[in-house]
Amino acid sequence: MPQLKDTYPLYLNNKAAQPNTDLEVTDKFTGEVAFRTALATPDVIEEAIAGAVRAAEPMAKMASFERKAVLEHCVKRFRERYDELAYSLCVEAGKPIKDAEGEVDRLIDTFQIAAEESTRNYGEVQPLDISARAKGYMGMWKRVPIGPCSFISPFNFPLNLAAHKIAPAIAVGCPFVMKPASKTPLGALIMGEVLAETDLPEGAFSILPASRDGADLFTVDERLKLLSFTGSPGVGWALKAKAGKKPVILELGGNAAVIVDKDADLDHALERIIFGAFYQSGQSCIGVQRIIIHEDIYDTFKDMLIAKTKTLVSGDPKDRDTFIGPMISDKEAGRLKGWIDDAVSQGASLLCGGGLSNGNMLEATLLENVPAKADANWEEAFGPLANLSKFSDFNQALEQVNHSKFGLQAGVFTRDLHQVLDAWDTLDVGGVVVNDVSSYRVDNMPYGGVKDSGLGREGIRFAMEDMTEIRNLVIRRL
Ligand code: NAD
Repeated sequence: MPQLKDTYPLYLNNKAAQPNTDLEVTDKFTGEVAFRTALATPDVIEEAIAGAVRAAEPMAKMASFERKAVLEHCVKRFRERYDELAYSLCVEAGKPIKDAEGEVDRLIDTFQIAAEESTRNYGEVQPLDISARAKGYMGMWKRVPIGPCSFISPFNFPLNLAAHKIAPAIAVGCPFVMKPASKTPLGALIMGEVLAETDLPEGAFSILPASRDGADLFTVDERLKLLSFTGSPGVGWALKAKAGKKPVILELGGNAAVIVDKDADLDHALERIIFGAFYQSGQSCIGVQRIIIHEDIYDTFKDMLIAKTKTLVSGDPKDRDTFIGPMISDKEAGRLKGWIDDAVSQGASLLCGGGLSNGNMLEATLLENVPAKADANWEEAFGPLANLSKFSDFNQALEQVNHSKFGLQAGVFTRDLHQVLDAWDTLDVGGVVVNDVSSYRVDNMPYGGVKDSGLGREGIRFAMEDMTEIRNLVIRRL
């Protein structure tokens, strides 16, 4: 079993620095302090932003093969440090070890995709002679880095969601300052350690856990040319309001739905929905929260879901048999337990689960007949809870999915191509997944939400577009 160190430095202008050990990070299963790291004070953040501004030009001048080499170095080092990275997620996020390994696999994919895309930052030649006025003119455009970027990442994928910002920034040549989640800063700090081994220009990156006071600087400073935030809707939209002129990318939360049609392969749907609802204790922005089932198969599929949910093993995330680990904190587990109890008091039926032990171990829970506007249905559960409901007509199921203030991804289990196309046309979400769950994601696909779920798309190529500006060139032939 790998060991964690007692303290980890932050990364300021490419270098390890340990100005203090003010941030105590716990093992989310045992509750004991796992390690300490520094909290960046406003003057440290100021130094980092100034460094990023200085690095903008040398970063932009790096050749694409040089940026690719940096990303490939990361891929190599992440492979070499695989077990340590997975273990760090297990400890700081309480992520069951198999899910943790899955995240490290995705981290490697994300950097690998970025390495490939870094040499494909293409522009276009455009004929401009569309009328007599423009005869003899031609245009061409290329993409140039937007400049120093600000990144803020959440607790639930400490490696891969930080990677979805860091890797495209390196691919296009943008320096960045990153604030990882204070509950799980280690993933990003280890990435800092690996990046510090490369010859990125001084100031190219800073990775700085920060207190609330400092955190504001990541949003308001006008020298930062883009804010890319992944986290909760409340925080994300509030930061956008403070971000000034810079563009803002928001990857926020949801209460994702899946539809199970009467002709679906129920064994397959069962396996995937249980995974989508309960893996990493439901703490995924696209985790399945609403299961909308055709009335003809409702009772059968409900029984299958209950039986399977009851078999899920919960316990220590370091144990390979564990499927359900702890939630991130007692507070979050208590909040969701309160929502479950409240839904039941409003008439919902508790089908299984609902128990809370050890402060943050919430059982995998299924509810039915949850009032539409009860918190357990209407708000983002972000924990091991899913609600069952029934439909008779497919269009009605689509309406149920859309009856939400969120819109990240939705899953549709069906064999009917017409239904697939209707869902794709009608669902007000960033992505529709057919014959799999809302929580399915591959790291090169466009990924993001509509409505309260966010603005813009990640997925390396799409993030690279946001981190660049189009610069046009017009040539007149004399
Ligand atoms: P959070 O909003 O509490 O925190 C996210 C980040 O913002 C953390 O780094 C946090 O320290 C920071 N932060 C909080 N308040 C801030 C402030 N006032 N100024 C600057 N930074 C601030 O979210 P969380 O609890 O870490 O993560 C869970 C949320 O993230 C859920 O809503 C989930 O759906 C969402 N999420 C979205 C995606 C996506 O890609 N759409 C992916 C994962 C998680």
